[in-house]
Amino acid sequence: MAKLTKDKVTSCLKGSALTLATLAGVIGGVIFGLCLRTREARWTEREVMYVSYVGQLFLRMLKALILPLIIPSLVAAVGSLDMSISGKVGGRAVGYYMATTVLAVILGIILVSAIHPGKPGNQGDDEITKVGESRNVTAVDTLLDLARNLFPPNLVQATTQQYRTVLKYPGDNAYTEAGGQQRDPANLYTWKIDGEYTNSMNILGLVFFSVFLGVTLAVMKEKGKPLMDFFICLAEAMMTITTWVIYMAPVGVFFLIGGQILEMEDFSVVAGQLGYYFMTVLVGLFVHGFIVLPIIYTVTTRKLPFRFIANMTNAFTTAFGTASSSATLPVTMNLLEEKNGVDARISRFVLPIGATINMDGTALYEAVAAIFISQVRSMQLSVGSTIAIAITATAASIGAAGIPQAGLVTMVMVLDTVGLPAEDVTLILAVDWLLDRFRTAINVLGDSIGAGIVYELSKADLEETKKVTEGGFEAVPMTEIEGD
Ligand code: ASP
Repeated sequence: MAKLTKDKVTSCLKGSALTLATLAGVIGGVIFGLCLRTREARWTEREVMYVSYVGQLFLRMLKALILPLIIPSLVAAVGSLDMSISGKVGGRAVGYYMATTVLAVILGIILVSAIHPGKPGNQGDDEITKVGESRNVTAVDTLLDLARNLFPPNLVQATTQQYRTVLKYPGDNAYTEAGGQQRDPANLYTWKIDGEYTNSMNILGLVFFSVFLGVTLAVMKEKGKPLMDFFICLAEAMMTITTWVIYMAPVGVFFLIGGQILEMEDFSVVAGQLGYYFMTVLVGLFVHGFIVLPIIYTVTTRKLPFRFIANMTNAFTTAFGTASSSATLPVTMNLLEEKNGVDARISRFVLPIGATINMDGTALYEAVAAIFISQVRSMQLSVGSTIAIAITATAASIGAAGIPQAGLVTMVMVLDTVGLPAEDVTLILAVDWLLDRFRTAINVLGDSIGAGIVYELSKADLEETKKVTEGGFEAVPMTEIEGD
């Protein structure tokens, strides 16, 4: 008994040590970056690359795990569940995703309307620096592309590329083509429609396919077992590698953040012209992540959320360091199962889907940013336009990939619905890299709490089904770190 307690204390300390080390990595990285910035001469691009090099290695390791982890995990998790149960679990997850995303958007709209960070009086648009370029795209095309990407025509290609619509600029003057086709440079909807494949993984398509493959294997029962065993084994192997990679997190996060601080333009920009906007998003993220979501967790599970959230700290710091919820996914999955004891069949089912479509932080930010920009442009938003922003912000967060600053790209669609030009996203670009890190951490928090809630709600259903394979997915965590 005494030995057991001692073991528990040791493993608990070990778990906390890693969390504390990663937290220290974040704070240390900020201090490190700030110290380096005190140098008189400007840091060259090459020097910044050297500083963030180790962090980039960590990021590459995490990214390498995404593909071999997501697909087998999803297939195996869905395949392990009875069809009726996977339907229930999926339904609960999607219900949670929709409800929390809409809540986040509403909270964002309330805050940005109350704080009004974009008063043209104290923030003339000429004071805000425009930097960078943007893409011409309509809200309709973005939505249609989202659905197109659900069905990748070639699965191998989906691992590296995804489709997007490109609208071709017709030239400076409006004209009518021989067939009667109108081309007006001022109206995006009349431009020539083209498409291209861009170099980023189509996670949504892969997730969708994996769910279907899992369902099929579940239906095939005994016949599907060899393939199921393969996926179960691959998922377990990837999870083990994840456990090792997590040990690199403190160092990785330290250098990633240090490099980013060094690269940053100027602090006065963050604190100055965009300060109110920045604070509005930050307050919204905080209220949603640390008040709204925990309350939902407590109400639905009848458990206090503190331990659950504290156990996920390492995932939040990794999300903050990498600005990517997809890259953080292996860490999130690992902590959920090993520290919070969530059944692997649930975590591996709902987390990859959550990391792809459930982005509360991004949704909140999209709504705040779009309304902020309309405020800067002295545009009066009607109730209809505000509702349109709410709907497209939700869609934009679903469509955003779990990669750095993906939300900025899908923002264009929100702006389009209220008639703001795509190039206006450049107004908020200066602080976006930093906000991105905060919203990614809240995205990961939302996914984790969602998995926790779905697990608690599905416990009874899970108990009804027996475990699928010996040595396969287990209902208990791989290591018992927590005492309860
Ligand atoms: N970087 C965010 C994520 O990975 C997406 C975004 O809001 O840009 O979750």
